[in-house]
Amino acid sequence: MEQARAAAERNGIDTRMFDLREGGASPVGDKSSVKYFPADRQLERSADGRIVVRLYDTGLANERTAVGSIAHELSHIRSVLDPENITGEMNSEDDAELPALYAEEYFK
Ligand SMILES: [Zn+2]
Repeated sequence: MEQARAAAERNGIDTRMFDLREGGASPVGDKSSVKYFPADRQLERSADGRIVVRLYDTGLANERTAVGSIAHELSHIRSVLDPENITGEMNSEDDAELPALYAEEYFK
């Protein structure tokens, strides 16, 4: 997990707000996830306030995929935290996949 975090930081993603956790095998085939509670418009957080981001086995396959997966979740997180997001809804999978594609395209 520290390797994934270091790769994300190397690629310009500030991960200090994330509690990165290994999720094991994904129950639904995702590479990663954040848990969103629509009723109170909150993201799952750890005891210290950081947002919990789970990386599943497929998301940890290699550094490039890990960085793309973290970029994907960061997009979801930003959408929920955006003060101009009146509805508080999380952005779509398509919207979150674009930054993941860019992160993997320009991976270093
Ligand atoms: Zn997603």
